[in-house]
Amino acid sequence: MRYIEPHGHMVSRTTDDYLDMATAGCTAICEPAFWAGFDRSSVDGFRDYFLQLTEHEPKRAAKFGLQHFCWLCINPKESEDTQLADDVLSIIPEFLNSPNVLGIGEIGLNKNSRNEIKVLEKHVDLAARHNQMILVHTPHLEDKLKGTKLIIDVLKNDKRIKPERVIIDHVEEHTIALPLEAGFWAGMTLYPESKCTAARAIDMLEMYGTDRIWMNSACDWGVSVPLAVPRAALEMRKRGHHADLIDKVIYQNPLKFLEQSGKFRIA
Ligand SMILES: [Zn+2]
Repeated sequence: MRYIEPHGHMVSRTTDDYLDMATAGCTAICEPAFWAGFDRSSVDGFRDYFLQLTEHEPKRAAKFGLQHFCWLCINPKESEDTQLADDVLSIIPEFLNSPNVLGIGEIGLNKNSRNEIKVLEKHVDLAARHNQMILVHTPHLEDKLKGTKLIIDVLKNDKRIKPERVIIDHVEEHTIALPLEAGFWAGMTLYPESKCTAARAIDMLEMYGTDRIWMNSACDWGVSVPLAVPRAALEMRKRGHHADLIDKVIYQNPLKFLEQSGKFRIA
């Protein structure tokens, strides 16, 4: 088995996780910028985080033969402080030429607040001005459907944004059709406690097909499983899916989407 982990928060994981992922057939990991589990107090906290994502984490991953890429932004949870958001947005361009930066993400909404929407629009503008791809985080539970619609509206309102260069992540049964019908990519996040199980993800693949879809583990500082993607692949095999189709979902699809960045390639 070979696979790409397109969404993993590796700064929170141990070297054992890297070893397990490499052993399971992982070739590359992409790490979107996210909430650290606590609010950072200043723009300097973000500058250090961006240095960690662009300089230090790729070296740690390389020790296990894994390529490491990342996405940059201030996440929706900390975007409620619009002054902090402006400060962080102003330093992102300094990092966009780093060889492992794929684009702007994971941006989106958390509580669907006005400030979050304002900061989302600024991120979309930043991505458009710098010709960057976009990775979107959608809210949890009861806020997900409304938030997904709001996010798609913001993206569609900016005519510079090409939907095929945007992925809407954390889709579930009631939201997956929205991004796909609008020409975006959709990501399914495999999580033990919230979001989506492997069985539900495979149901969605069987219902909506395997084009413009990927699966990820989003492994972070909370309860999450770094091997969720290869485990879902085993589950697909158990259900009788062909090896070529499994390879498409867990390897070729992320490769196809991410290659549009001009930076992502499997060495
Ligand atoms: Zn994430």
